[in-house]
Amino acid sequence: MAYKTTYPFTGEVLKEYDNATDAELEQALETGHQLYQTWRNSPVAERAQDLQKIADLMKDRKEDLAKAMTYDMGKLLTEAQGEVDLCIGIVEYYAKNGEKFMESVPLESPAGRAYYAKQSTGVIVAVEPWNFPLYQVVRVFAPNFIVGNPMILKHASICATSAQKFADLTLDAGAPKGALTNLFISYDQVSKAIHDPRVAGVCLTGSERGGAAVAREAGAALKKSTLELGGNDAFIVLDDADFDEVKKVSPGARLYNAGQVCTSSKRFIVMADKYDDFVENLKDAFSKAKIGDPMDPETVVAPLSSKSAQEKLQKQVDSAIAGGATLVYGNEPINGEGFFFQPTILTNISKDNPVYNQEMFGPVAVVYKVDSEQEAIDLANDSSYGLGNTIFSSNREHAQAVAEKIETGMSFINSGWTSLPELPFGGVKNSGYGRELSELGFDAFVNQHLVFEPNN
Ligand code: NAP
Repeated sequence: MAYKTTYPFTGEVLKEYDNATDAELEQALETGHQLYQTWRNSPVAERAQDLQKIADLMKDRKEDLAKAMTYDMGKLLTEAQGEVDLCIGIVEYYAKNGEKFMESVPLESPAGRAYYAKQSTGVIVAVEPWNFPLYQVVRVFAPNFIVGNPMILKHASICATSAQKFADLTLDAGAPKGALTNLFISYDQVSKAIHDPRVAGVCLTGSERGGAAVAREAGAALKKSTLELGGNDAFIVLDDADFDEVKKVSPGARLYNAGQVCTSSKRFIVMADKYDDFVENLKDAFSKAKIGDPMDPETVVAPLSSKSAQEKLQKQVDSAIAGGATLVYGNEPINGEGFFFQPTILTNISKDNPVYNQEMFGPVAVVYKVDSEQEAIDLANDSSYGLGNTIFSSNREHAQAVAEKIETGMSFINSGWTSLPELPFGGVKNSGYGRELSELGFDAFVNQHLVFEPNN
């Protein structure tokens, strides 16, 4: 059975799930399609009210949702609780703004009267990863619910319990059947769904490998797709940065969620005169970060999500060191059953090092020393990824000017990465295409239906 909950702190299998049959997939497609037909002709205000009820029930079930995530993929319970709060905010944001976002948009044309209506397009398939089991789903589910696009969810096989709990919650809150159907389906069944005429599009968050496979199917079926993929985000410390603030923010920008965040700061780029101080501070913080039980509020570093994630990261760190990197701190095995990885700092990664252009999905920081701002910008841009990026400078104009020189989808000034309902989220280059959250994310699977009447 592919879908199961294996607690990363103990390695114990807590629950296993049967795969969905083709008949169940067919049923989900038909139920979703029928709902799409109903929703096309029902007021948006009704869906906005239903969405608010979902947010209300999420508040009641916060602890249950948070614990399910910790058991599924090992994240700190405190971080899981924060994730539920963020998701409630996202659901409420679309419940509140959805009607406004659905309004028709008038167009100016000397040739006649024109506007475009915003309309639903059909069932959307969502393929989501395990690192934020609730957030990844909510950021596509909530806007599409308002638009009137029912959703079929294929969540990561390791966070099956979280997926099912949220789908059940939507029904318990009174959402119609088919609004969110969670299915434990195979890759072949995902392809089958994408090719089905009742499906209008597919969104995926995950790896380049998964993204390319799903986008290939979407292309072959002429379906719209959006991809939110990996990142190798830079954290650039400019010469006018508030260095005390840099020291405070940088360790958490790497260690949050045990480093398993697409927008974690993964490459720290520091001016030569501050470099030694920066590395020393990071080392000190990493050595003090408490590793252990994710349910303990004192813990800072939780286990990785799975044994295979731990093994993959170990291989990458080994290959980096074999390729000439300097190990400044970490990379020691952690005793016990959990899938832990000690926070690790690597320096002297040359351009020909195997990990130079790889995303390391765990608590591994790479620090680079540069002699000029231009060198920092060039290094940040020398990546096949372009998701997020952090700039530290005490001069806002300076920070913004540098931010705009980075080939990336998001830049954060004087802070680590962040995500809020009203801020668009997404990348360029191999980090994917399309945006989620905000009004931009709302429009991802909307039919912008032109209605035009020419002058006589
Ligand atoms: P992954 O292997 O691509 O898995 C993501 C999802 O895709 C899972 O549900 C997976 O199912 C499914 N999948 C993979 N290959 C598939 C295929 N050929 N057909 C259908 N479904 C397929 O990604 P991951 O390694 O678990 O996730 C971590 C990655 O996600 C990192 O690179 C991270 O940076 C990225 N990420 C990006 C964002 C963003 O917003 N840009 C946010 C979070 C994470 P199974 O679990 O069954 O394999």
